[in-house]
Amino acid sequence: MAFVIVEGCTKDEKCVEVCPVDCIHPRKDEPKFAEATQLYIDPVNCIDCGACLPVCPATAIFADADVPENFAGYVEKNAQYYQ
Ligand code: SF4
Ligand code: SF4
Repeated sequence: MAFVIVEGCTKDEKCVEVCPVDCIHPRKDEPKFAEATQLYIDPVNCIDCGACLPVCPATAIFADADVPENFAGYVEKNAQYYQ
């Protein structure tokens, strides 16, 4: 299980600031930040703490089991960023 970022992410890094394991990328100090349309959660390193979920002003973060059906493709999209 992992958390997933879906449509609506504004790249404001509120989630990055609270993630205890630095598994949300790209951060703005990383080269891919400018071109990224959103941030992505690394499903391997995410520890499912849930800290990112309540701080997202865009309501763009879900536990993978709770991702709405219309955003189902984002589970793979987040994982692909790390492949
Ligand atoms: S807090 Fe939400 S809107 Fe902000 S970067 Fe994270 S996922 Fe995107
Ligand atoms: S659930 Fe926890 S570990 Fe996973 S991305 Fe959110 S803050 Fe990071």
